[in-house]
Amino acid sequence: MEKIRYPCPCGGKIKWKKDKLIIEGIDCGVLDVEYCSKCGEEYLPEQTMELVETKLKEKGLWGIQRKEVNLWKSGNSVLLRIPKDIADKLKLKPDEKVTIYAEGKNKLIIGL
Ligand SMILES: [Zn+2]
Repeated sequence: MEKIRYPCPCGGKIKWKKDKLIIEGIDCGVLDVEYCSKCGEEYLPEQTMELVETKLKEKGLWGIQRKEVNLWKSGNSVLLRIPKDIADKLKLKPDEKVTIYAEGKNKLIIGL
């Protein structure tokens, strides 16, 4: 079965391998993964996504809310607006102190 369907946005070729997947801290076992031989970005094929989804559902971790938000500029700072439903869920209050840090190059973690 031909697994290479598209090139990576970086222009690299997508290859296929079996890899031990740990998603949201859950060991999902050894599954099929597509990865870019150039930048190393990993992509999960549909079948793998389904297995991961089942695992995460078992642990009650599926459906963690992800939202796309815009960043705003204010002076030299960049502002992030937290959508109301997420703020409500986490019971965020104005003037509350939180900790933020960068995890790797493309993840921002906000600790409460
Ligand atoms: Zn790539």
